[in-house]
This record gives sequence, C-alpha cells and structure tokens, in this order.
Amino acid sequence: MAAIYDMDNGMQLTDGLQGCTVSDEAIQTAQRIAVDLDEPVLLEDDDGMWEVNPDGTCDPHERTPRYTCDGSVRGSCGVKHGSPEAAGNCTRRDHRGCVRQGGYSDRTLVSLDGLPISNEDFERFYDAFDGSV
Ligand SMILES: [Zn+2]
Repeated sequence: MAAIYDMDNGMQLTDGLQGCTVSDEAIQTAQRIAVDLDEPVLLEDDDGMWEVNPDGTCDPHERTPRYTCDGSVRGSCGVKHGSPEAAGNCTRRDHRGCVRQGGYSDRTLVSLDGLPISNEDFERFYDAFDGSV
C-alpha cells in the first residue's frame, strides 16, 4: 500500500494506493499530483519514502528530521533546527526576550519535513525549552 502527503504541512492527499510491489499506481498518481500542485509531494511507498517532483523525478526522502519554531503571535524563528533540543533552546531564548518585555513566547515545535512530530520529540523540545527564564 502507498499514500501521498503534502510536503509542506504533512496533510494526507491520497491513501490506499497500490504500492510499487503491485503496480505503478502510486508513483504515477504522485507524479500527477506533483504536476497539479507544481510542488514536490511525499510518497510513502512499499520501498520507502520518496519526494516526487513535478518534473517526474524522485529523490529519496531526507530522513533527518528538520524542525522550526512557530507561533501564531511570535511567528516563525526562520531557522531549520536539526533536533527538537535545538528548537527548544531557540524558543527558550525567544521566550526570555518576551518575558523581559512582559510577555511570553507562543512558539512551539513545528515539523518542516511533512512528517508528524512524535510525543518523544515534544518531550525533548520541552526539556530543552524548560519554560524557565
Ligand atoms: Zn527556532
């Protein structure tokens, strides 16, 4: 079985496709959606995760998790963090600056690679963030 995800927000676009061990349905559908969106999509196929580009090429999906910090009030920090800890440290610094001005930072851990953030990732983020000032 195979599924296709939006690279930006991790939203599932299609599910229940025949994977590459059965037919070319999944890759062909992914290529069509990539062309329609004019953006790469994430294909979870029988043989792993792939980034399918609008020009029809595929790249193995970068497995290294990438994170950023974002909040509706504070906005994004604009940095790609390699670990939840790095994002937590970044948000702690932002939070300190906000507290000095009588506020707080509403930034939280956000995934940049379209994959959901696990509870373990959030724990690592909050351990580093600490909530202290
Ligand atoms: Zn950050």
